[in-house]
Amino acid sequence: SGLTKHFPVRGGIFLGQTGVVHAVDDVSFSIKKGETLGLVGESGCGKTTLGRCVMGLYPPTAGKVFLHGKNMALENSRQMKSMRLQMQMIFQDPFESLNARHTVGEILREKYIIHGKKRVGTDQEIKTLLERVGLSGDDIHRFPHEFSGGQRQRIGIARAISLNPRVVICDEPVSALDVSVQSQILNLMVTLQREMGLTYLFISHDLAVVKHVSDRIAVMYLGKIVEFTTARALYKHPYHPYTRALLSAIPLPDPLARKQRIILKGEVPSPETPPPGCRFHTRCPHVMDICSTKEPKLKPLKVQGSPHLTACHLYF
Ligand code: SF4
Repeated sequence: SGLTKHFPVRGGIFLGQTGVVHAVDDVSFSIKKGETLGLVGESGCGKTTLGRCVMGLYPPTAGKVFLHGKNMALENSRQMKSMRLQMQMIFQDPFESLNARHTVGEILREKYIIHGKKRVGTDQEIKTLLERVGLSGDDIHRFPHEFSGGQRQRIGIARAISLNPRVVICDEPVSALDVSVQSQILNLMVTLQREMGLTYLFISHDLAVVKHVSDRIAVMYLGKIVEFTTARALYKHPYHPYTRALLSAIPLPDPLARKQRIILKGEVPSPETPPPGCRFHTRCPHVMDICSTKEPKLKPLKVQGSPHLTACHLYF
């Protein structure tokens, strides 16, 4: 609720110059138990920072994170620890996120130690975990460099689910993988979600991947959510001009089915100096006078069917 994350920065052309990167600005959303909420947007729009704030890896500048209705910041350290156990993360780069000097068994066992579990996972438990993510129990003694990218991400997933979490923040979990491997990993994640009742926050810049896995989708631009609805409604009828441009860029195999591509002009403005009013107004094909002065709020549209929120002056 109202999550904001600003990073102070130093440097620039003049040494000693300081500034603030507005990575995430006043973002609110909820995730339902057992659903996958997709979070999409271009690189640098703040989606990874938002995921890390939810996870507690970055303390937010403002705003709160609630888990099962409890404000995580207000819990005592013991309760906080137990809430943290219920949230885990899958990282983008499966190689960078695994300690190259540890065997797979040590990597997976470390999770129990970090979280102060009295009972350290047995070899048999870890072998079962590896088999659950499609690896062999014998892989327990191998090192990360002996695996392919897809297998390493399976180890990352095994680590995330080892302590039986409720919520998993997936930060671009397949973008470093070949397309053929991506679908295997996505299918594994969907299977685990069904079996374990997991809730996913699925962060990606790839709209085709997000469409495949998400129940609802939030579209981010320059630190703000600009559109939020079900996956079906978003792909069938996007309202925000930025979402329309993003969707028009998805490659389609059938050239006859191709809709007209919307080419956005200009670059994404710097998050150090976000434009006033609507942050998209410097690139929007439908920009109006009001757009550069008044910030559009994320509001529900009057449409039939699923709730559909957008932040655009065209509709209000
Ligand atoms: Fe475009 Fe204005 Fe809507 Fe922003 S508020 S998306 S600039 S029409």
